[in-house]
Amino acid sequence: IQNTLILPMTEPELSFRGDIGIADGRIQFVGKADPSFVAQRVIDGSHHLTMPALVNAHTHLSMILMRNYKDNLPSLQAWLSEIFPIEDTLTEADILTASRLAIAETIQSGVTTFCDMYFHSEATAQAVLEGGIRANLGLTLFGDEASSRARIAEREGAMLALRDDPSGRITLSAAPHAVYTCTKETYQLANRWAREHDALLHTHLSETRKEVDDCIAANDLTPLFYLESIGALEGVRSLFAHGVFLNDEEITHLAQMNASIVHNPSSNLKLNCGIAPTSTYLKRGLHLALGTDGASSNNNLNMVEEMHLAALLGRLEGNLSAWEVVKMATLDGARALGLDQKIGSIEVGKEADLIMVDLAKSHLTPLNDPFSSLVYSAQASDVSTVLCKGEILMHDRTLTHIDVETLIEESNRTWSDVLKRR
Ligand SMILES: [Zn+2]
Repeated sequence: IQNTLILPMTEPELSFRGDIGIADGRIQFVGKADPSFVAQRVIDGSHHLTMPALVNAHTHLSMILMRNYKDNLPSLQAWLSEIFPIEDTLTEADILTASRLAIAETIQSGVTTFCDMYFHSEATAQAVLEGGIRANLGLTLFGDEASSRARIAEREGAMLALRDDPSGRITLSAAPHAVYTCTKETYQLANRWAREHDALLHTHLSETRKEVDDCIAANDLTPLFYLESIGALEGVRSLFAHGVFLNDEEITHLAQMNASIVHNPSSNLKLNCGIAPTSTYLKRGLHLALGTDGASSNNNLNMVEEMHLAALLGRLEGNLSAWEVVKMATLDGARALGLDQKIGSIEVGKEADLIMVDLAKSHLTPLNDPFSSLVYSAQASDVSTVLCKGEILMHDRTLTHIDVETLIEESNRTWSDVLKRR
């Protein structure tokens, strides 16, 4: 990539013009071109900025099928009671179609890594491998010990085979849904499974006031300390989606843990949950990543839009900088998934997960501050080129691995079929 504005995300506010050399999926040089490097292909970056690809650290990918279905119900609980019965009818074939379309949308907004909590992960994995991107896939658990044991027995062979895929693009998590849908024993099983297989522990945490109040009423502890008390978090890297309502003690405790909070601003606003005080969290030393949550509570998988909202909401209670927001969506997202040694910044030796943003746009001119431009002015459609492990997944807005038109037709057929099953 020649003569591009590079945002390496290695130190605050740093940007400079230069070249990036890529070979065997890895970054070979950044800045000044290595004279001995012979490029098979040169991409002109003179009208673009080049940055690490975005990381969507919390989603339920295949919920795109339920996009704009049962919107604006009064609470998270009311919405879930409409969604759960539909989810019970989804088949592996439905999930494959949905995942393929969702991955097209994901790449089109500049994301090459997502962290998923959903069902039929083998189907999502197939779509990930076809699409050329990366994912952390959850072994999603609900309910009591018996149902969790059955699910683990049914799924773990396939999940472990996916983790060992030679592409190295799939990692795993144990993903108990939430304290209000899983028993203590399910969380303990999840913890054991995560430790045994070096997987993350991915769960929803303190998303609503009601969740926190109910947990205190039942256990005399807030959700985080309840999970600690039952040993659910011992010895694992934890990924907590939402964390909207964390008290002072929880914030202090989280800052010392091997854990990240995933901020999902669109979902929190749309489901009327609240606003996570991200500026305070950062000041107190918490690790924050950014996610879209499922498309049926967002209602898209657009991480550029998510950066925009995070930046605006961050102004409400503090002073979240544009650079901090971009870092949440890149390096800190990679860190949250345990992938920061591989991706998340532009450095020699890292795998080349990069995006190029077209700056020759009226709404991005003049370019006084590239980080501000990204979070306050840019649109997902400004992402022109996407590379994962050095492979081009989109160039000049054309997807190289995915036929979107066919997938739109298939997804519409799938959804009408799902509705008939009710
Ligand atoms: Zn979620």
